[in-house]
Amino acid sequence: MTAQLIDGKAFAEGLRNRVSVLAAQFEQKAGRKAGLAVVLVGEDPASQVYVRSKGKATIAAHMASFEHKLPDTATEEELLALIDRLNRDPAVDGILVQLPLPAHLDEQKVISTISPDKDVDGFHIINAGRLAVGQEGFVPCTPLGCLMLLKDRLGDLAGLDAVVIGRSNIVGKPMAQLLTQESCTVTVAHSRTKDLPGVVRRADIVVAAVGRPEMVKADWIKPGAIVIDVGINRVPGAEEGKTRLVGDVDFAGAKEVAGAITPVPGGVGPMTIAVLLRNALVAAYRNEGLPLAMGAL
Ligand code: NAD
Repeated sequence: MTAQLIDGKAFAEGLRNRVSVLAAQFEQKAGRKAGLAVVLVGEDPASQVYVRSKGKATIAAHMASFEHKLPDTATEEELLALIDRLNRDPAVDGILVQLPLPAHLDEQKVISTISPDKDVDGFHIINAGRLAVGQEGFVPCTPLGCLMLLKDRLGDLAGLDAVVIGRSNIVGKPMAQLLTQESCTVTVAHSRTKDLPGVVRRADIVVAAVGRPEMVKADWIKPGAIVIDVGINRVPGAEEGKTRLVGDVDFAGAKEVAGAITPVPGGVGPMTIAVLLRNALVAAYRNEGLPLAMGAL
């Protein structure tokens, strides 16, 4: 059997188009564009690339992008003062602080300074709490993107056995909570799990968010299972000095067993920015007290 490919790139493009249409309608109703502010501290090259692409995507989605760059010598006081200004700025609906921060800055303190109503990354403890108890809030972009791909493929997830490998605050834990809300029977596996292959073999849905190249093998996967590979790992390429990206799942083997699978790249990766834009637009509608038909997103 050869698995169907879950094309996250195409799904993300569709979502971005829908966001863009609703963002144009927002501008007409509110008399301003929805605004997303991104804060970058320091010169980390990968972070600079992410921030640039987030800015471009925001503008392409008919929203206003505000970029704030601080040197890596910035003090906690300076960063918190900037966040405080953005919290009070009515043109800013969403605030994202690019992580990781330089070591002298306390990430938790910085995140908890962002207004929960502008926390479009969903990392604030209030939003984590809202997700835990099933209240409306902001959900971290990557797991919400994974859920969208799963629901698009399967429709109703109720009663399915789901295994999430990884228990990080930004992917594994919120993913498990989202799947629980969808009435899946959820197992969270991690570095201390005994017999990981045996645990994964029970699953109708496998979400791998580990950060270990091609760790999940084909013979761990139940025939017909849906496999969502969150991992992004850079490994040596075929040509000397070149690298390539692989996921946490042995794609070549797993696609012969799974019912459907996300590739890396082109699977979960493109969903993250698309969901960020979606969250920023939702924040804008909420901040202006305007109704938004959530089904559209
Ligand atoms: P993390 O390092 O915070 O967490 C990794 C988790 O994997 C931990 O909970 C750990 O217990 C578990 N783990 C480690 N070794 C294991 C093993 N041998 N067996 C079972 N579990 C094990 O990582 P993260 O931030 O959750 O990211 C995970 C992966 O997803 C990374 O490759 C990251 O690059 C990728 N990622 C992708 C996106 C995206 O697509 N946009 C977003 C976030 C993270």
